Amino acid sequence: MREWKRIDDNEHCGMCGKKLARGAAVLVITIDGLKRKKFRCEECSGLQAPPDLPPVIERSPMTKPMQPLKRAIPRDFKIAQGNNK
Ligand SMILES: [Zn+2]
Repeated sequence: MREWKRIDDNEHCGMCGKKLARGAAVLVITIDGLKRKKFRCEECSGLQAPPDLPPVIERSPMTKPMQPLKRAIPRDFKIAQGNNK
């Protein structure tokens, strides 16, 4: 599948190796069944990026408040099981 997107991280074009800055409009190529994405700059794709691409959405890092462990991890599993022979 090919679609135009604004990338949320710095990438490189897969054809010419040009550095693509975060927020740049690039052609993203995905293949069904594969997680890897290919990026193409406007020059290599031979197409014009649509001017109405949505901007990159800032995502804050997921943070969870710290909580105490419910059960402490035993120092030695043999002693914890009573098989210390
Ligand atoms: Zn390129």
